[in-house]
Amino acid sequence: MTPFDAPGEWLRCALHAHTTNSDGDLAPGGLVRHYDWAGYDVLAISDHWVRTDEPSTDGLLVIPSAELNALAPAREDDAHVLALGLAVDPVVPEIEFAPLQEVVSWVLANGGVPYLAHTYWSGLRVDQWEACEGLVGIEVWNTGCELELGRGDASLHWDEALERGRLLYALATDDSHHPGYDSGFAWTWVRAREKTQEAVLDALRTGAFYGSTGPRIDSVELTDGDVTVRCSPAASITLYTGRRRGARINAGRLGYPHNAQVLERADDGLITAVRLERPFRQPYGRIEVADANGNRAWTNPLWIA
Ligand SMILES: [Zn+2]
Ligand SMILES: [Zn+2]
Repeated sequence: MTPFDAPGEWLRCALHAHTTNSDGDLAPGGLVRHYDWAGYDVLAISDHWVRTDEPSTDGLLVIPSAELNALAPAREDDAHVLALGLAVDPVVPEIEFAPLQEVVSWVLANGGVPYLAHTYWSGLRVDQWEACEGLVGIEVWNTGCELELGRGDASLHWDEALERGRLLYALATDDSHHPGYDSGFAWTWVRAREKTQEAVLDALRTGAFYGSTGPRIDSVELTDGDVTVRCSPAASITLYTGRRRGARINAGRLGYPHNAQVLERADDGLITAVRLERPFRQPYGRIEVADANGNRAWTNPLWIA
């Protein structure tokens, strides 16, 4: 079952953001008001080595979280692990950070859901983390890393791991440090049975969500032979299924269908429904939607070999 068929409600979540408890500009209360006013449903505050526990409001569910450093094998590169819903306060190690596997296991043992942040920004190679047991996913998109260095898009990392059969989910986040300048650009739509911390964390553990910097995905229907996607008006919709395979529809003057058929268009010619053919032998499948401004949305893997 995909999140698009699952019972429950869609919650717009900011899952990576900093306050004055680490290197962010706003105090925790200010950050909560900021995301509340921006119309979000959920905020995970993820300060470096600080579990920030700020009260929820009527509109915004706040999930205490943290961002922890770890050493990625074997080069001992600095990896950042999001510990979403962490239940205890982390303690900065005195001498050096622990290996990635240890940090991920510690997060799991202490109620958190571990995601590896900004792998492209960190300069990590896929083989440094794909074997990490218990790692739930990565960030396919990190706005801060994109705005500062152009290294916010880790979809290539994600595809490499998926192609090798490693199931990983992927978040889209702001990683906001300067709310207003680097916030409200990316979010994760979580399909939760209810708006509680437990239900949101369950959805994050099981991939019941999709990330977006703009487009909305309304439905994804899967058969043995194809995938039908309905979404907000899109310039392209792509089925990623492995190297040299896949399907894509493109709108516009150079509109070019590859293993795809338009089902519906908006008045301006952008595509709102498409049927994408599943090619023979597919290691995995995931959908990406792009709008006319280049904003994107990413489903989690629909299947994996
Ligand atoms: Zn980081
Ligand atoms: Zn961060």
